[in-house]
Amino acid sequence: MNKFFGHLWTVTKHRHHVFVLCTRCGLFWRGLVHDLSKFLPTEFFEGVKYFNGHYSPIIECRKQNGYSLAWLHHKGRNKHHFEYWYDDQNPEQVDIPYKYAVESVCDRIAASMTYQGKNFDHTKPYYYWKDKTTKDVLNKHMMAFYDKVFADLKDNGLKYILNKKYMKATYTAIVENYESYTQATQ
Ligand SMILES: [Zn+2]
Repeated sequence: MNKFFGHLWTVTKHRHHVFVLCTRCGLFWRGLVHDLSKFLPTEFFEGVKYFNGHYSPIIECRKQNGYSLAWLHHKGRNKHHFEYWYDDQNPEQVDIPYKYAVESVCDRIAASMTYQGKNFDHTKPYYYWKDKTTKDVLNKHMMAFYDKVFADLKDNGLKYILNKKYMKATYTAIVENYESYTQATQ
């Protein structure tokens, strides 16, 4: 398959997974508009150039050049990325609003489904979150939220976490009531 169609297919497949997962959490619109900036020239053509079918072309571009213009373009426009919310002059960092936090969970599960195909299982996003994610851009509320969601996913499966009730309750308990959450878990 040539790289143009390879990349187009990967983005489409990924967006489809995100759509299904977000819809299960009641976020139809977030699922529909997810990652649309990947079709803009800055992101799309870099994606084609560094397409490899196994992992994000952004990672490949960074390997070869040290940075990725597609990523800089993408993170500045997509609120489901931690880096969108990061302000180096803010010592605390803001909490990522609910709908984008849930979209980011769906994004990570979908990326795992897209790239791992048949080898995907519900424990994979947890290990990716634990071992391969740069977390210094997150505050402690968000850290605790993702820790809990991906651990629950690993232990209880997709159905357990992919619904509005679970997501709302978890976000409210951890992000909005962080002090009482940490007291309860100590
Ligand atoms: Zn994205």
